[in-house]
Order: sequence, then C-alpha cells, then structure tokens
Amino acid sequence: MKSLDDIAQALQGFDPQALSVDKAQEFIQHLVQTLPPISTEELGLMQALGRVVAQDIVSPINVPAHDNSAMDGFAFDGQQLGQTALRLRVVGTAFAGKAWQGTVSLGECVKIMTGAVMPAGLDTVIAQELTTVANSGADTIVEIPAGILQAGDNRRKAGEDLQQGLPALRAGSTLTPAALGLVASLGIAKVKVYRPLSVAYFSTGDEVLSLGDAIREGAVYDSNRYTVFGLLSRMGCQVIDMGVVRDDPILLEQAFQQASTNADVVITSGGVSVGEADFTKAIMKKLGDVAFWKIAMRPGRPMAVGRLGDCILFGLPGNPVAVMVTFLAFVKPALLQMMGCSRSTTPYLRAKSAVALRKKPGRTEYQRGFVRTLPDGTLQVEAAGNQGSGVLRSMVEANGLIVLHHQQSSVAAGDEVDVMMFDGAI
Ligand code: AMP
Ligand code: MG
Repeated sequence: MKSLDDIAQALQGFDPQALSVDKAQEFIQHLVQTLPPISTEELGLMQALGRVVAQDIVSPINVPAHDNSAMDGFAFDGQQLGQTALRLRVVGTAFAGKAWQGTVSLGECVKIMTGAVMPAGLDTVIAQELTTVANSGADTIVEIPAGILQAGDNRRKAGEDLQQGLPALRAGSTLTPAALGLVASLGIAKVKVYRPLSVAYFSTGDEVLSLGDAIREGAVYDSNRYTVFGLLSRMGCQVIDMGVVRDDPILLEQAFQQASTNADVVITSGGVSVGEADFTKAIMKKLGDVAFWKIAMRPGRPMAVGRLGDCILFGLPGNPVAVMVTFLAFVKPALLQMMGCSRSTTPYLRAKSAVALRKKPGRTEYQRGFVRTLPDGTLQVEAAGNQGSGVLRSMVEANGLIVLHHQQSSVAAGDEVDVMMFDGAI
C-alpha cells in the first residue's frame, strides 16, 4: 500500500510547509485512490434518492415507446404540405393511452391529443389553434394555412428521449429527483448504488463546551460539530457524532480508535496548529500514517490528513469558519470521490466584486460573499463584513465564497471574481 510519503514524492513541488490548495487537493485525490472500493447494494428507487449509481443503467425500452403527438391538434401525412392551404377531412380521434386503429388516406387527418400514438403513416401534427375547422355535411373539414409547418413537425419520435440498449444513466451519477424520474420512466424499480459513507467526527480542545454545559470564562460552545454534522448530512453521509473529546491522551486514543474502526472517514476539529499544547497531533501520528500541513490559504492554514487503517482522517483547524472552508475545499471532494461520484466539481460563477479586495499572491483566499443579480442582469458579489476565521455570522449571511486564487493579487471594484456558490451545501 502506498504511504503518504510515496504520494508526496510523486507530486512535483510538494511542500507540506507551504502547500497550495491545488496540490493539497491533488494529494488527497491520490490518497483516496489507495482505499479499497466501497461496497454496493440494491435499493428501491425512492430509497435511492441522493445515492450514487454503481453501474450503468441501460434502457430496456425506447422512451417514448412510440412516435406520438406533442400537441393537441390534427395528425396527417406531411408530404401533402405545399404552396397552398390544405383542406383535410377528419376521420377519427386518437386519444393518449390507446393506439388509434384505422387507415388514413391522403386528403384525410385524425384529431389527436398530446401524447397519443401517431396513427400509422402519419408524421405531422398541426396545433388545433392554428387551423380553421368547418362542417361540410356530415364531415368535419380542417383547413391548414400554407407556409407555417414542415413535414414531421410536432411529432415526438420513439426513443428520442432514451434509446433502448443505450445507457440512460452512467455509473457515478447521483440519483437526483430528475434522475429518479428518468429511471422510473424506464420501468426500472430497483437500482444498484454505493452504500452511504459513514463519517465519524469529534471536536477537541479543553476550552470547548458541549451544549448543556455551564458557560465558563475562556470557554466556547462547540459549533464545529454542528456545522460538520449539517455538511455531512446534506451529502447523504451516515454520521457518527462522538462529541467533544478533552485533551487527554487516553480519551483521544480511544476516540480515534473507535472512530477508525466504525467509519470510513474521521473528521476532527482543533488541535492541529503549530505549538498546540495538546495531544491530538501526537495521537494521530501514533495511530496512523498522518501528515501535518500548512496550507497556503485563508482561512484554514493548519490541517492534518492521513490514514488510520482503511479510514481517511481529516484533522481540520479549530476556527469555525476555517472548518467549513477546509471541509468544502478538501473534505467534500474526497467524500464525493469515495462515494463513487464521477462529477464532483461544481462550476464557479463569475461575478463583479462590489468593492476592492486586498489579496497577496501566493495563497488562496476564501471570502464570504453575497451574490445578487443587478437590475441590468449582471451578477455582483459583495464581500461580507467581518472575514475573521471565527465569525460564523458572515458565513450564515453569505450565499457563496469568493475564491481569490493562489496567484491572484488585489481586485479592484468592478473586477470579476470566481464565486463558489453554497448551493444548498451550507
Ligand atoms: P485550535 O485550532 O485548536 O487552535 O482552535 C482555534 C480556535 O478555534 C480557538 O479559538 C478555539 O477555541 C476555536 N475552536 C476550536 N474548536 C472549536 C469548536 N469545536 N467550536 C467552536 N470553536 C472552536
Ligand atoms: Mg486547540
């Protein structure tokens, strides 16, 4: 099995003391690849919402199954269309759900409902509201003006949505509400999906209080477990909440051991900074293959990453905003990769910065911001007030993170910047 040192050696310009966000992400991607693949299970469609498909779902049928009408109107043979208006005699009505039997000759048409199977030999539908309908004796005659239609119009072809024998959904796709509907439209009731990841997390630090503890000087209530819980739950992970673990070597060792035997991933917060007077780092090192990085980013500089057996460890910094930012930048992509998800990147959005932003090249900065659409349609992002790495309020008020990339320098008001939208993740 590849060690962390092996992975580091294979990456060019890898410096754990000043690691760029890109390099750290690349390292983590390699680290996840050293894990055994996650197992699969078969689930009923509704139970599988949010899961990742483990094998291609091949369409057993054409969808739609037959050529059918896209409109309420009249179906006819399009070869009759020409320079002059067409007058056609109505010889029947085709309803959705049952095929209309009978033959239709030139000079004739069939009244047809949306979704009804196209009668044999007919390829074109005119919308009812574009015709003039007149009675002539016992017959109903429909007049179709010239020049508004081409043969084949308003007909949905069999298999135009999904073709029999071709993959309708690829392995690695997430079963979104739209994907559930698509699989259902194939008549498939069960799907093979990856099992959910189980993720254990705990907070460390003697100053960290659990909810219900009496407040005391110098102490803070544990918010990290709640943000991490929320982020993981939104991703569909099974969470194992292990509470706050005090800076006590015996308790920490127990917690890490228990977490790594029960979970695919362990996330801790706090205790990874330089000069920490705690045991977290020592125990991580003792129990696994763990690297301690200084990442060139703000917020979120210190971080521990490694393996405890077959379990991936993320030792996130303690500051509440740093926890969320490092989760989004490093943990989330790794979890998606472990979940078997093939599309794990959400595109950045480009927005004009409302104000000038100071930035030093040589590190990635994430600023909380709020994106809005201006009346003229341009997207504008306003950086939230207090960008302190402990200030959760601005995280709550933001709807995305302005990403000022590694090489980027200061931004003038009106310049475009990349924004990572929260998009329901937060
Ligand atoms: P550390 O990385 O342990 O030095 O922590 C950095 C800062 O984050 C300190 O001010 C801690 O009090 C704070 N902090 C650490 N853990 C938590 C937590 N679970 N909830 C809220 N704040 C925390
Ligand atoms: Mg600490």
